[in-house]
Amino acid sequence: MRYLSGEEEKKALEYINKAAQIASDATCERSKCGSVIVNNNEIIGSGFNSPPQNREDQRKCSYSKDSYHEKVTDKTCCVHAEQRAIMDALRTNPDKIIGSRLYFIRLDNDGTPSRAGKPYCTICSKMALDAGIEEFVLWHDEGVCVYKTDEYNSLSFQYKEKI
Ligand SMILES: [Zn+2]
Ligand SMILES: [Zn+2]
Repeated sequence: MRYLSGEEEKKALEYINKAAQIASDATCERSKCGSVIVNNNEIIGSGFNSPPQNREDQRKCSYSKDSYHEKVTDKTCCVHAEQRAIMDALRTNPDKIIGSRLYFIRLDNDGTPSRAGKPYCTICSKMALDAGIEEFVLWHDEGVCVYKTDEYNSLSFQYKEKI
């Protein structure tokens, strides 16, 4: 991983802001997230989190995560913004995924972009790696951080709550 600075950071923040605009369309009742995938300064996929197919009959946002069996490893309610962006890129720009970079942002309750903690979503980390996305970007308190996707996947599986 490395933190961006100067022009690189400025450009990355433009894409993070773009992801934030997309996040404002999210319909998840727990949090609003957005993601864009970029290759050669072109957005090749984007997405926000909401129930599958945006179907209200599939909405799980109000369900307690404790109510699921341990075999239900994905207890998150909605399709993640990164999953959506990856599926969008696979559908619309499958030839541009190799070498691409995924940007992710979560909005706080008043709709402003919030800084991310350490990587932990193994659903998205595996999917991004398998699809061939090269880099994954999170905006931490320390700055805009670029991870190689294989590194991002390994770190996600190593996640530990800070004590
Ligand atoms: Zn939800
Ligand atoms: Zn995820």
